[in-house]
Parts: sequence; structure tokens; C-alpha cells
Amino acid sequence: MTTTPPPPKPRSALAALPVYKPGRSAEVAMADHDLDAAVKLASNENPFAPLPSVLAAIEQSAAASLNRYADHRASDLRSVLADRLGLEPEQVGIGCGSVGLLQQILLAYVDPGDEVLYGWRSFEAYPIYTTIAGATVVAVPNRFEALDMGAITAAVTDRTRVVFVTSPNNPTGTVVGHAELVALLDAVPSGCLVVLDEAYYEYVTGLHAPAALTLLADRPNLAVLRTFSKAYGLAALRVGYVLGHPDVVSAIDQVLVPFAVNGLGQAAALASLAADDELAVRVADVVTERERVASELRRRIGLSVPDPQANFVWLPAGEQAAPLAMALERAGLVTRPFPGEGVRITIGTSADDDRVLDAIEQLAGPLGLADAWRLPVDDRARTVQDAVDRIDAADERVAAHGVVAHDGFTAPDPGGTEQWDVGQVWAHLAEIGGYWLGELQRVVNAGDEPATIGRPLTDPSRVDAIAAGRARPVVDNVLATRRSLDALRAYLAGLSETDWQRVGRHVSAGDMTITEQLDAFHIGHVEQHLAQLDDLVRS
Ligand code: PMP
Repeated sequence: MTTTPPPPKPRSALAALPVYKPGRSAEVAMADHDLDAAVKLASNENPFAPLPSVLAAIEQSAAASLNRYADHRASDLRSVLADRLGLEPEQVGIGCGSVGLLQQILLAYVDPGDEVLYGWRSFEAYPIYTTIAGATVVAVPNRFEALDMGAITAAVTDRTRVVFVTSPNNPTGTVVGHAELVALLDAVPSGCLVVLDEAYYEYVTGLHAPAALTLLADRPNLAVLRTFSKAYGLAALRVGYVLGHPDVVSAIDQVLVPFAVNGLGQAAALASLAADDELAVRVADVVTERERVASELRRRIGLSVPDPQANFVWLPAGEQAAPLAMALERAGLVTRPFPGEGVRITIGTSADDDRVLDAIEQLAGPLGLADAWRLPVDDRARTVQDAVDRIDAADERVAAHGVVAHDGFTAPDPGGTEQWDVGQVWAHLAEIGGYWLGELQRVVNAGDEPATIGRPLTDPSRVDAIAAGRARPVVDNVLATRRSLDALRAYLAGLSETDWQRVGRHVSAGDMTITEQLDAFHIGHVEQHLAQLDDLVRS
């Protein structure tokens, strides 16, 4: 008897490959749990059906040209995107979803043995494609349920060829700071490509997030990935794009599978760009829902979440992640568990989100969520939301003051004689946020031994910072103030209970809890100067 030989073995790299797990579908969950209905909140999809104008464009394109290969270069889409973004068409590449571009980047830039660096946990495609490329994975653990940009920057070596920076990060939803991205770009060797993966870019409201387009001109080693899958709601059509130096885009183009970007996708993307006013309304709805869900989780249910900047929230449920996701699924809510870490839940319609919130509220006690939660719970979770609300209110006041005229001088400080004009107040506001966030970070990082914080206002570096602020246009100081409030908001949302218990030793006031520091220096101080601005508004 002859035996058939086994089929050929694939490359050894494949044996080590993590498997990409797509979110479970509503249908599978219904069958598994014998449910009449279920909603899928597992894949960060858009909850809205396609716009009629986009559907019409797809139908027209299908009727006219389904029998033809599409434009391999997607030239029209490149030029329209370039036009909108103020770039040259050669700086825009189109791919089969941003995940297709991500694979192309690794094909184009890494050789076996090169290092590919990213924070972890992050998007699951990174380890898969890095391993396929035969490159070495360098995964830096997250901190504060967010990418640890300091540690990522410190992990750069002369073998690092690609760094992925995911902002907002999937699955934690947090953004990196613009300044942190710049610090990384400064630290990498010039032959290393930094890929800013902004699949959820359109949902970002945080002002301290990267303004990547402003960097492209001077940073040939920065590439930005975006997609039509999420905010534009075209996940099934697979269209993503990359922005970067023309040579980088051209190298990425060289390894594009022929006709990988299908014609229907190109037509739909163009029609979506033409309808982006309508789409912006939908994005704004998702953002409003996202803020509501985060606020209710913290305040009503007493479970804190890191600052969500995409179309999902991250529940840091630790060991209870898998049981929580399973219980939600039995209630007809399909989410994405990361066992031992957390659960990612896509923002849906407000009815879906209400069901999620109610289910979590009911499950919190029986599953012992508070004990497993990696961020603050109960009263501390409420403190976090109080701080977020207070920062948001201050931010609105700063924005409002940014567009009105002021005159005159402030009253002298209690016990002092100095009177400030509005330019001086703005220069000070623009400087205090960054300064005090640095002090807060030192307190948190110092651990049990209190860090000494605070310097007199006459400290030369602060006096210089204020003088520099004085020389800038007011709009720049308004923006700097708002950015620093946003950075504080995001930082506070990521602090653990242990972090909140840190104490700082103020140079003159002595030991202060973080809550006391917030009140005296961060939020409270900004509020005091806002009151001064209120008095200086020209009547
Ligand atoms: N990057 C990140 C961070 C993502 O979360 C995703 C989708 N889950 C992608 C890229 C890929 O999206 P697409 O291929 O649909 O453009």
C-alpha cells in the first residue's frame, strides 16, 4: 500500500504566529446562548448604516465597472486626500485597509532579525506581521492603561527599524501626547520608520494628541496610517491610507498586491469624503456617547476607565475580564475580552450603550468587579469624574476667554503689590499646566518616598517661561493652556488607586495629597486665574 506523503510544511515563522481573533458575530452569540437578539460591540465598527449618497456611488460603480480591474494606484482618491490634507499626491498611499498598509510597511522596511518596537497591549496585527516578516518583536508593557512613550523611547536601539505608535491605542483608547511623539522621533536612528497608527483619528477630541501633519514636512521617517473603516463606516470595503515622505510612500506602494484596493471601495471613499459634513455629525454623536459612557461608568457604577479617545471604552477588569465578557454575551452584548487584562466595548447607539451600562451595573457585585479592577473604584472613581468635569468646565472657560477682548489690570495678589495685564495672565496660564503636570508625575513616579514639589514663582525658569509666553500671540497661549488641561485630564484618568495615594512634599506647604495638589495648583490655580480674566473682560 502506498501512503500519500504529508503536504509541504509552511515556513517555520508560521509556527510561532499568534492567530488574529476577529470579534465574535452577533449571530454566533445568539446561537451559542440561545438568544433572540444580540448586538455586536466587539470590532469597533460604526453603528450607523452607510449614507444614501455613499450607497448610490457604490451601486453606480458596481453597475459600470465590476468587470474591470480598478485603478491600482487609486489616483483620484490620492489626489482628493492630498488636497484636503495640504499634501502632495506623492505623499499619500492607498492600501487594502490600514492593516494592509501595515503589512506592506513591514515587507518594505524590515529584514529578518531587525527589531520592530511597539507598546503592548496594542493592535493584534503588529505581532502577527512582525513575526511573518521574521523580525524581532520588542513589546513594551503599557503603563496607566496607556502606551508608555518614555519606555518605548528608551527601548529604541540601532537595530530598531519600525516603531508602531497607536493613537488612540487599541484596545485602551488612549492617545499619546504630541510632545512624546516628537521625543520619540528625536530618539530613533534616522533609518527607523515611526508609524503613527491613527485608525481612530476622527474620534479624537483631546487637544494634546499628536498634530501629525504638522510634523511630516520635517520628519521623513514619520508615516501616518488612517482608514475609512471606522469613522467613515466602510469596514467591509477595505480602504486605508498612509501619509508620509514620497520615497516612503513609494516603497510601500512597491509591495502592494495588484488591485488590492477594490473599485467599490475607492468609489465609496470618494463619496464619503464628499459627504463628510454628514459623517462629522455621526462622529460627534459617537463622541458624545463615549463621554457619557465613561462618565456613567465612573460616577454611577463606580468603575473608572482610562480617557477614551476612540469609538470604544476599555474596562480594565483584570482577572474578571473573561467572565465579564461572557456574562455580557449571555445578556446579548458581544464585546471583546482580553483575558486577564480587560474588555473593550465599542460605542453603539445610545440604546445599546444603556444596555451595556445597566448590565455592567448588575454584574459588578456578583462578579466582584471592584476587587479585580485595575483603575480606581467607588468614591475614587467618582473623584476622577469630578476632576474630569471640572477640567472640562475650565477648558470651556479658557476657550471662551480666548475670543473676547480684555483690558485693565488684575487686583494685586493678596499680600503682594504686582498687578498683571491680560497678556501676563495668559502667559502664566500657558505655563502652569505643563509645570504642574510635571510635578504631579514626579510625585506619582517617586513611589512611597514623597517627591519635593513646587518652586517659587520667582524661579528663573518659570520667570523665563512667562516672559516667553508674553512674547507670543494670545491664541498660542490659549491653545497651550487648553492642551495642558487636556493632558492633565488624560493623565488623571489613568492613575491607579495606589497612584492616588501618593503624597508630594511642597516646598512651603508640607505634605499634600494628590487631591490637595489638584485643588491648590492644577485645577484650582487655573480657576483662580480664570476669575481674574472674568474681571478683565472689556465691558
Ligand atoms: N489599526 C488599528 C489600531 C486598528 O484597531 C485597526 C482595526 N481594528 C486597524 C489598524 C485596521 O483597520 P483597517 O484595516 O480596517 O483599516
